[in-house]
Amino acid sequence: MSMDDDESLDEGEDPSENVSGDDDDADPAQPLSPDERESVEADLEDLDSMRTVFEAQGAKGVVIACSECGSNHFYGWELLRESLEHMLATGEPRMHEPAYQPREDDYVVWDYGKGYVDALADAGLEGGSRVPITRCAWCDTPVEAHFAFCPSCGRPMAVVRLFRELLGRGLDERDVRSLLLRAGFEPFGID
Ligand SMILES: [Zn+2]
Ligand SMILES: [Zn+2]
Repeated sequence: MSMDDDESLDEGEDPSENVSGDDDDADPAQPLSPDERESVEADLEDLDSMRTVFEAQGAKGVVIACSECGSNHFYGWELLRESLEHMLATGEPRMHEPAYQPREDDYVVWDYGKGYVDALADAGLEGGSRVPITRCAWCDTPVEAHFAFCPSCGRPMAVVRLFRELLGRGLDERDVRSLLLRAGFEPFGID
């Protein structure tokens, strides 16, 4: 009846101290739960899609508003990919990057980027499958495929892409031109 009491009198060494003399088992990382794994794997996929779209536009990485420490963390593409893969492999939590101040414009806000690639996917578009254009339709300045605006005259390249896309779907060029004019775009002299 009183065996428990007897045992509690023994003030010998804590057996846990004798199990291991080294630090190998100190603070072991817990493996991720299935839910956590799934979420990290989804992040990796999103990251890959975002990189495809935004790296071509000159973005150096993403910025994530951290729910744990409340600050913004800036990650280069490769750094974040390695960090997420490290999480998958070891279960260790994501790094909290030191608060250095990069050019914020170089980094895509994660939630924005995710919304963007989700919208592309919903539309059945792979990243980077924009209608290719090489020159401004107004001033003939050479533009790169990812430009949103002409670097010379500032006009929106989306209109030119839309023009090409509609022609590609078999619409009559005159109809497309008048449609864009009625929508308020300046007339342009594309080839
Ligand atoms: Zn943080
Ligand atoms: Zn132009």
